[in-house]
Amino acid sequence: MDHFALKDGVMHAEDVPLPRIAEEVGTPVYVYSRATLERHAQVFRDGLAGVPDKLIAFAVKSNPNLAVLKVLQRQGYGADVVSVGEMRRALAAGMAPDKIVFSGVGKTRREIAEALEAGIGQFNIESEEEGLELAELAAEMGVTAQCALRINPDVDAGTHDKISTGKADNKFGVPIDQAGQIFGLLASKPSVNLRGVAVHIGSQLGDLAPLERAFTKLGGLVTSLRGAGHAITHVDLGGGLGVPYKAGEHPPSPSEYGEMVARVTKDWGVTLIFEPGRVIAGNAGVLLTRVVRIKRGLNNPFVIVDAAMNDLARPALYGAYHDFVAVGPNGAKMTANIVGPICETGDTFAMGRDCDRLESGDLAVFRTAGAYGATMASSYNSRGFVAEVLVDGDKFAVVADRIEAGAIMDAERVPEWLA
Ligand SMILES: *Cc1c(COP(=O)(O)O)cnc(C)c1O
Repeated sequence: MDHFALKDGVMHAEDVPLPRIAEEVGTPVYVYSRATLERHAQVFRDGLAGVPDKLIAFAVKSNPNLAVLKVLQRQGYGADVVSVGEMRRALAAGMAPDKIVFSGVGKTRREIAEALEAGIGQFNIESEEEGLELAELAAEMGVTAQCALRINPDVDAGTHDKISTGKADNKFGVPIDQAGQIFGLLASKPSVNLRGVAVHIGSQLGDLAPLERAFTKLGGLVTSLRGAGHAITHVDLGGGLGVPYKAGEHPPSPSEYGEMVARVTKDWGVTLIFEPGRVIAGNAGVLLTRVVRIKRGLNNPFVIVDAAMNDLARPALYGAYHDFVAVGPNGAKMTANIVGPICETGDTFAMGRDCDRLESGDLAVFRTAGAYGATMASSYNSRGFVAEVLVDGDKFAVVADRIEAGAIMDAERVPEWLA
């Protein structure tokens, strides 16, 4: 459930009519709903009621906006970060360092040092090499790094290849049969406390079965590591729960997920860490856009909108589907190709889509754009960076300024020897 709905024939975010935001902030613009973010945060936590000891760490990469992080911090959430840039955001939003988990295959020495300095809660190390580097840096700094080893469970998450992360030939984690040896190696390093294991098999999962297979494998690993004398106190189960992008899609609910987790992990006796991203932020945001013009096409007309693949990359990257609806629908329908202005055929949001009838100048939204939306934006075609707005009841605030193409050009210079 979200808080984007028609009231008196006009789409609102909570109690704010979207045309007001378009007028005051311009388009394209991402619009997030605080009530929806909070609701999703609560529903996810409630779903895990059967898990006694847990940390929920929002996957910052899905929506790193500071105001969004603040809403989640106030819900007691921590953060799963994959760069120090994200770590700084989580800290700036007031998240406690010990609620921050640092994942990623390519943490640099500088990033590791900054995260040790900040005293973050857990490093999810993704290789033996990284573990040794972490041990060395922590020893130099005279601190103990808390960490978990990310396991590649070799399960097919059944999602898009580009967002699948738990198959044997994916770059993430280490094969489960190498875990014992890496634990043995790092156990002799007093500067690291390798206290657990982690998995994250992919995103937009529509089925619990691959997650359950991965968690079950992890449970077996916990038993065998304990048998070898390692104290396992933390297990990170990652994120990945899918959201409905179109009517009729019913991915597993947080409560179904939570029941499965509680059942599979009931004898583990550990603190469980969760890293939800999309399921919290996805349906808490829309991308508001204006129709530039309608162009005749061979089969269907082209609805050319002022948002493009640089603002919302998912359709171009993954062929992803986003619902596209008019802000002021009049009941008439059309079949159209929805495209942006960028000079690439990839800048196509949908071909042959049945949608509300739109005219030049009308407003429309791409739904379910709160996760992996603005965060993936680029300035391709010198279009600048899209603005972001957070709505709260009948008020709203610009929570990220539009960065105009000119400001990006200001950071560039022609060397003297070329002038
Ligand atoms: C991307 C990512 C997540 C979040 O995935 P969602 O599908 O958005 O829930 C969690 N953990 C890690 C390690 C990730 O890379």
